[in-house]
Amino acid sequence: MPNAKQHAIVGAAVGVGAWYLYCRFTERPLDLGELLLAGGACAVVGLLPDVFEPAIHPNHRSILHSYMCAGLLSYGTKWVWENPTLDRDQKMHWSVCVLGYLSHLIADGQTPKGLPLIRLMGDN
Ligand SMILES: [Zn+2]
Repeated sequence: MPNAKQHAIVGAAVGVGAWYLYCRFTERPLDLGELLLAGGACAVVGLLPDVFEPAIHPNHRSILHSYMCAGLLSYGTKWVWENPTLDRDQKMHWSVCVLGYLSHLIADGQTPKGLPLIRLMGDN
């Protein structure tokens, strides 16, 4: 089971990578401060699933650690990108945070316990 440090490192790498690619493909100047902020934000968001559902027992993974949650976040991201009131940077900020959250779910999904498709608190 990945621990908090591993989730933070993976999240930071995902955030830095996503922001780098965003700047590269949109020909946006790459700013070191923004790059570090994306990595830091993604690292923090990458810890949230275990903040919401602490790993205090083997069956701690519930709805916020589920494939359904990943699907809803992905759909939310689609909605954000279709929203004409948000500018491109705002959309990318959202996307970087979602990628941080998804990095946690993907890492947890690689463990023998995996992720539930959908599971409410109390189900076993
Ligand atoms: Zn977790």
